[in-house]
Amino acid sequence: MIKNENPVIADSLWDATANPAPNCLPLVGKVETDVAVIGGGYTGLSAALHLAEAGQHVTVLEAETIGWGASGRNGGQVNPGLKDSPDAIEARFGTEIGRRMVNYSGAAGQLVFSLIERHNIQCDARPVGWIRAAHNKKALREIKAIAAQWQKRGAPLQVLDADEIAGLIGTEVYIGGLLDHRGGNLHPLNYALGLAVAAKRAGSVLHGHSRAIRLEKAGEGYKVETSGGVLQAGKVLLCTNGYTDGLVPQLAQTIVPIRSIQVATSPLSDSARASILPKLQAPSDMRRLLHYYRMDAHGRFIMGGRGAYGDRGTKRQYEALRKVTRQMFPQIGDVTWQHAWGGFVAVTADHYPRLNLLGSGILAGLGYNGRGVAMATAMGKVMADWATGVPEQALDFPVSQVQPIPFHGLHKLAVGATVARYSLLDRLGL
Ligand SMILES: Cc1cc2nc3c(=O)[nH]c(=O)nc-3n(C[C@H](O)[C@H](O)[C@H](O)COP(=O)(O)OP(=O)(O)OC[C@H]3O[C@@H](n4cnc5c(N)ncnc54)[C@H](O)[C@@H]3O)c2cc1C
Repeated sequence: MIKNENPVIADSLWDATANPAPNCLPLVGKVETDVAVIGGGYTGLSAALHLAEAGQHVTVLEAETIGWGASGRNGGQVNPGLKDSPDAIEARFGTEIGRRMVNYSGAAGQLVFSLIERHNIQCDARPVGWIRAAHNKKALREIKAIAAQWQKRGAPLQVLDADEIAGLIGTEVYIGGLLDHRGGNLHPLNYALGLAVAAKRAGSVLHGHSRAIRLEKAGEGYKVETSGGVLQAGKVLLCTNGYTDGLVPQLAQTIVPIRSIQVATSPLSDSARASILPKLQAPSDMRRLLHYYRMDAHGRFIMGGRGAYGDRGTKRQYEALRKVTRQMFPQIGDVTWQHAWGGFVAVTADHYPRLNLLGSGILAGLGYNGRGVAMATAMGKVMADWATGVPEQALDFPVSQVQPIPFHGLHKLAVGATVARYSLLDRLGL
């Protein structure tokens, strides 16, 4: 069970199958550091690792334990690219930085797998590709257009027809899809724990149970306070994504936290394992309220989708995920459902992540819109580049000023209305 979490979303398979965590004692007393990193998920850990490798003294403050947030709870799908297509990104940001964003986000999966290899991280990493599955003609047209745009840029994507996708997934509900060979999947919490070990080995100092409760300018740098200590830092990186609290109030208004949930079976029979995801890819479908699913290393099937803010709604959504699994994969038989859990993703108004500059020495990286295994790792590296003095124009992602989402206080109502609309459009196949 995830400690210090609402029991309704705490029964995580990843927590139950985690490697031993590195020892990260709380911050005590007054400490000086070059860079303070707030948040011990992929963004913060990747930033810490890359900063330490660049010779900086870096200190990570995590409010709970390493990987406690979305990084320890997600579907483990390593998805290359941003939500928009490469052409749309270049049209919006211009060919100079737009092209760099396309290349960098497209290579984010390879960055994950190369870090895992370089630091010998034991996280059941499978670079077997990522499947996007089309449930109707409109979705298939979109998939083909995305594939063509990436293929034009030399990326290894393969369009799948109905028979091919049925063979790879083990269901006949899709009319086609694509296999993006740059992606794959992994055990998300063990990846986070492995990044933490690598960051420590490179010289970073990691503190668990150390929530940053105050942040203020102090001389040339910043003072960050926890309940037990004070960090005096030259620069501060905020890496709190869907768990952004009131430490910097205007940052919390740039994202909407949305709950995503998953349910997992006990290990399947050999015959079910032979027909469901036999090559172990982890697909996502193209619905607005998408389903994402996979097998773990012990043959458990995991189905994920949208959660609700309340407990009763979340329990209903767990049941809906179990039902959709039985409909899509009748061959799964009479399985036991072993785990059900969830966490917060951070959604932005335009579905692009952000690098927000909050002061001369404070940068926040967040807003992965549910696609942060690869992108948060990549963003942490960009943040490390920024903290070591790489000029903004030379970074692989644009730095922007904070822009609060209008009427942010009403976000739960707005999300409820959007979910109802999306659910209707998905049901109508529009
Ligand atoms: C159920 C679920 C399924 C998902 N599936 C996928 C998937 O399959 N593929 C994919 O690419 N993405 C997926 N995502 C999204 C992905 O997990 C996130 O985008 C990514 O983990 C974000 O990493 P992060 O380090 O930025 O934030 P997080 O991992 O959320 O870490 C933020 C950390 O900041 C800490 N924190 C907050 N405030 C403070 C403070 N004041 N002081 C100190 N610490 C603080 C929190 O405790 C937390 O540990 C999923 C997310 C969820 C919840």
